[in-house]
Amino acid sequence: MPQAQGSLYVIATPIGNLADFSLRAIETLKDVDLICAEDTRHARTLLQHYGISTHCSSLHQHNEQHASEGLIEKIKQGTSIAIISDAGTPLISDPGMPLVALAHSAGIKVSPIPGACALIAALSASGLAVSNFSFLGFLPRTSSSRQTLFKEQLNTPHTWVFYESCHRIAACIEDLSCILPAGHEVSIAREITKLHETIIKSSIEEMLLLVNEDSNMRRGEFVVMVSPKPIEKKPDTLNEQQLKTLKCLLKECSMKTAVSLAVEITGARKKLLYQTALELSEHNQA
Ligand code: SAM
Repeated sequence: MPQAQGSLYVIATPIGNLADFSLRAIETLKDVDLICAEDTRHARTLLQHYGISTHCSSLHQHNEQHASEGLIEKIKQGTSIAIISDAGTPLISDPGMPLVALAHSAGIKVSPIPGACALIAALSASGLAVSNFSFLGFLPRTSSSRQTLFKEQLNTPHTWVFYESCHRIAACIEDLSCILPAGHEVSIAREITKLHETIIKSSIEEMLLLVNEDSNMRRGEFVVMVSPKPIEKKPDTLNEQQLKTLKCLLKECSMKTAVSLAVEITGARKKLLYQTALELSEHNQA
């Protein structure tokens, strides 16, 4: 009888606090035949902590494509494999994409075992509107490319979020401050779940001061979040020119025609023009 095909498990690991590891993640890592880790030495600390003795091999970006093809063959022959990265959810700015894509092409079952993910943890505690967001991963390394990217993001109607390292956080916030208007809200989540966890929401200019003045704000790992541009509310009264136009039109045509023409000419809201026209006519009748 042919051996049943194995499965591929994509398992999230803690992003700082070792206790943030699910029971199912631990059980699965004990049960599978092989663990593929981004860095086997790094993985050993976690695996030893939880008494997981499953064989571990490395899957990092330099050997990914070739190694993944070999792993798919093993799974087809019945081996169950789990993939983990150094921290958080594999594939999220981490290795694993070729393996998961190849598994789908080969009809292999892929199961996620969810857990920590820095961007989700950061958003949840940021104080920004996060029902919708876009994730940009790591940013380009040069200041000019970052500024170009920030300009493109400026009109995004939802929060945007990216990863940043301690080497570039100061330059990155400086670049952001060159592009965002004063008062624009941003949030930084630093060292999430670790001893020096810091989550701050402030205006971009306050954040720039903080990052420049407090050297701790340039240490560790960072998630940066930027709120969307505030929606410009249309005013709820007509300006002088709009009112003058409406009055002139009301003298010459019916209220309905005057309002329709005034919408076209002034660009003001139809409801507001109607309301004003009614008030003017009531005023004239009084
Ligand atoms: N796969 C991971 C995840 O699910 O979040 C992300 C891996 S990516 C290579 C590493 C980046 O994630 C760091 O440079 C930092 O921007 C962010 N990060 C990871 N752990 C973090 C933490 N504890 N606090 C803040 N940011 C963190």
